[in-house]
Amino acid sequence: MTAATSQGLSRREALRRSAARLSEGGIAEAAGDARFLILGLLGLETRDLLLDGQKILDADEAEKLDAALARRLSGEPVARILGAWEFWGLPFRLAPETLVPRPDTEILVEAALASVPDRNAPLRCLDLGTGSGCILVALLSELPHAAGIGLDRSEKALRTARHNALANGLGNRAAFAAADWCDPLRGRFDLVVSNPPYIARAVIQQLDRDVRQHDPLAALDGGPDGLDAYRRILAGVRSNGLLAPGGRLLFEIGYDQADPVRALARAAGFTDFGLKQDLAGHDRVLIFGLSSG
Ligand code: GLN
Repeated sequence: MTAATSQGLSRREALRRSAARLSEGGIAEAAGDARFLILGLLGLETRDLLLDGQKILDADEAEKLDAALARRLSGEPVARILGAWEFWGLPFRLAPETLVPRPDTEILVEAALASVPDRNAPLRCLDLGTGSGCILVALLSELPHAAGIGLDRSEKALRTARHNALANGLGNRAAFAAADWCDPLRGRFDLVVSNPPYIARAVIQQLDRDVRQHDPLAALDGGPDGLDAYRRILAGVRSNGLLAPGGRLLFEIGYDQADPVRALARAAGFTDFGLKQDLAGHDRVLIFGLSSG
């Protein structure tokens, strides 16, 4: 595709031709991808395409679109091309060091909110392996008097998370710091949440190409059996006494990890407070507390 392919086209025509180009290139969600790319690249809302669809792309816009289509055709996911994605209806910037937020992870946010007796309470939240910060930011957006800390090993992820908290108006209630899981954190938290790396190392090669080639390995690799991060977090939360009385610890898990993660949690002294499934009916979120509350 040459640099000028999309030049001189109206927004609507560019959308039509981009979808056709992606479809011919074997991209399954061609129409949706073309729409997300055009909206994201041109900074438009859906209504700008409907009401202002005749507006002609300028040279710069056409060049950006052509480059983005070439990247999509080579297999790069739309979220990576845009460097941004939506989660919980909020905008998030991404970095190569952060996962693309998944719709499944909204189940974790929902379960965490459902476990809170009073959403107006001054709750303290902790997000372990925060990445883009999407879980913590989504929680704080629903808990008006809560404050939270997001920890991650990656400084670049932390910079992205800080940007996302600020951009969503939560800069004064969210703090981010570098840590190896919860060492050496102290304090008491009402909600401890984590979507840690949980793919067994040997299985990573079998993931979709989009994930395998474009998501950061450190956010996927859960060690030989996929459970390393859960062991570390359970031990750290327990020995540092991070869970407040009545507090809840929530994990995102892989579809086949409910039993082993429950066993690890029980052995670490936690009580089982439930399991949530995702939209596909797979086990996706586990909820734990301390027996006293
Ligand atoms: N759900 C992700 C995937 O299937 C894995 C995310 C993780 O390991 N936390 O690609």
